[in-house]
Amino acid sequence: MTPRLVSVSRLPLTGFQKVRLAANVVNGSTLLGLAVAAAARTELRRGPRGLIIAAGYRWLLPFAAAFTLGNVVLCRCTADDLLTRPLLLGHEEKHCSQYAWCLGVPFLPLYFLAAGWSLIRIGNPGTGNIFERRAGLAAGGYPAPPSGRRPWRPSEGEA
Ligand SMILES: [Zn+2]
Repeated sequence: MTPRLVSVSRLPLTGFQKVRLAANVVNGSTLLGLAVAAAARTELRRGPRGLIIAAGYRWLLPFAAAFTLGNVVLCRCTADDLLTRPLLLGHEEKHCSQYAWCLGVPFLPLYFLAAGWSLIRIGNPGTGNIFERRAGLAAGGYPAPPSGRRPWRPSEGEA
């Protein structure tokens, strides 16, 4: 662990980060993440901004370098490797916030509906998925929308 990584992990939480952490504890999504992390025999480590990194995830699904359950970011790489990828970690942190906004586990069926919608409309589960768009497509490794075709945005409504 480099001194820089230590200092990032030890910064005090902001008010929003404290509320998000508490919400995801109360709504059970972080407990679900810890249960999956334990079942998958990952190595837990305190991450920045109230996140918990579960490194060394080896199960086949999901097909992703990293994914989030509550405040737990599960990744196939080491924690140090994830901490050197701030865009990916920031992307996963946005999913962490989305769990809080969705009151926890309801995020999962909503996410899968959005992924299916994206798959039907655009041909992959991320590009048209509102949760991935809000978390940042490029940071999550998803392609940009096809040129000349913008995905639906909630602020614009259906036209
Ligand atoms: Zn994502």
